[in-house]
Amino acid sequence: MSDENIKSNFIRNIIIEDLESGKCKKVVTRFPPEPNGYLHIGHAKSIILNSGLAEEFKGKFNLRFDDTNPAKEDTEYVESIKEDVKWLGGKWDDIFFASNYFDTMYEKAVLLIKKGLAYVCDLSPEQIREYRGTLTEPGKESPYRNRTVEENLDLFERMRKGEFKDGEKVLRAKMDMASPNITMRDPILYRIDHAEHHNTKNKWCIYPMYDFAHPLEDAIEGITHSICTLEFEDHRPLYDWVVKECEMENVPRQYEFARLNMTNTVMSKRKLKQLVDEKIVDGWDDPRMPTISGLRRKGYTPEAIRKFCNEIGVSKANSIVDSQMLDYFVREDLQLKAPAAMAVMRPIKLVITNYPEGQTEMLEIENNANDESQGKRLVPFSRELYIEKEDFMEVPVKKYFRLFPGNEVRLKGGYFVKCTDCVKNEKGEVVEVHGTYDPETKSGSGFKGRKVKATIHWVEAKTAKAVEFRLFEPLILDDIEENAGKNFLEQINPKSMEVLQGFVEPVAIKNAKVQDRFQFIRNGFFTVDSKYTTDEKLVFNRIVPLKSSFKMQNK
Ligand code: ATP
Ligand code: MG
Repeated sequence: MSDENIKSNFIRNIIIEDLESGKCKKVVTRFPPEPNGYLHIGHAKSIILNSGLAEEFKGKFNLRFDDTNPAKEDTEYVESIKEDVKWLGGKWDDIFFASNYFDTMYEKAVLLIKKGLAYVCDLSPEQIREYRGTLTEPGKESPYRNRTVEENLDLFERMRKGEFKDGEKVLRAKMDMASPNITMRDPILYRIDHAEHHNTKNKWCIYPMYDFAHPLEDAIEGITHSICTLEFEDHRPLYDWVVKECEMENVPRQYEFARLNMTNTVMSKRKLKQLVDEKIVDGWDDPRMPTISGLRRKGYTPEAIRKFCNEIGVSKANSIVDSQMLDYFVREDLQLKAPAAMAVMRPIKLVITNYPEGQTEMLEIENNANDESQGKRLVPFSRELYIEKEDFMEVPVKKYFRLFPGNEVRLKGGYFVKCTDCVKNEKGEVVEVHGTYDPETKSGSGFKGRKVKATIHWVEAKTAKAVEFRLFEPLILDDIEENAGKNFLEQINPKSMEVLQGFVEPVAIKNAKVQDRFQFIRNGFFTVDSKYTTDEKLVFNRIVPLKSSFKMQNK
């Protein structure tokens, strides 16, 4: 991942200090996803930050599945997460599962009980919430708080053996019900859940809570800098308490940074799962999803995502990034990588009436206007072509310079063509455009006789390959606050995808396979879709249009 400059940020500065002062000998970071969904662009930010820091300082980076919640987790998610991290270029040194630490976690809970720092509580979940108090009122102590160590040990052991039902009992830390920090008001450490776990199957029916499990996982793995998002700031004292009272040898430190939020995007896994379950999209990898697999299928490159993540930086202040900024980096990255070709998305026939019938010639056209070294290709040209419907107007509007009766344009890489008239069907719709060409005006011939104001692209009709195009708009219409309580489903864009049947010139895409990327002149960057492409028909997803009104600052 060393192909881009890592921007300085406050966590990087802390690491530099820790290494210089000798407080830390070797940096160890981790990315700890819960396998309860697919990764999204926000996770990419965390992966790139954590693996980038480990790489830069010659440390170690772990991929750790935080799988402590059996009901929602699945091996399908485990597999997709591995694939996505790899694809992004995040190279893990080790891969771990929190569930493999359940024995240690259980022992540590027993240790806390023995130290008088944890107790089994019989309050119901509702009562626990009630007793917890509010930001302005202190909490109330549980009537079970003063059970003896022996009683707690016995009950906790029986919880583990499965003697109680879900929710009947929990293990809580004995901290301070009057603490101004609500997280510290006797947080729950273990709960009962009789669900099968994807890894440990039915070995356990009690599971550690995040606040107890996470610091232990970090300490067990020798993580030095445990990086998480801002909402865990209040949990830090509890994190430190768990590490200390569980007498862990390694003492990790937690640092919080602002999560990535983007316009026109929902990022909570719960909401993304809802989009999948309610079939609003065709899966976690739908090209409109902000998931890594969705972005991959849409044709985004890992390089562009990494540049984007580096550019937005790491800070302590929450903000919302314009989703067009990601598109900017995709465009930059593809400019030189994606070979050009001509494709017509909304075809109409152009007949060149003075071109000899039955004749085909081959025109030489460059593969990438931005890079001569990519060479040229031969493109067939004949009497009948397809052009874009919008490149003809029977009655032109002001400043329209493309085809209309009497007007002349250049056909990209070919000749000047002057529109003569058009053919209409019984409904009065234009079905064919007619024109004549001037053999003197061939591209590259040095013709200087007169000028035209527009160049349009085209595809030769007989050899054209019929393909499908899928164009995308943001799935979410407005910029919504993720937690505003609004139902985000009401903000779904009904026009987030447009499916078109058109044509592509055959040579350029001859061996096109899934994930290959092209620049279709004037229409955008496209990739071959992995789900709907068949042996008979290529389906192209538009990655991004070629132009945007979005401007990068300082560029
Ligand atoms: P969600 O809130 O989307 O359900 P999560 O944060 O619960 O996701 P995890 O699987 O627990 O998902 O996240 C793994 C790591 O990714 C965590 O360290 C988390 O802080 C980080 N992360 C999640 N979302 C973002 C985001 N939007 N920006 C940056 N980092 C994120
Ligand atoms: Mg989480």
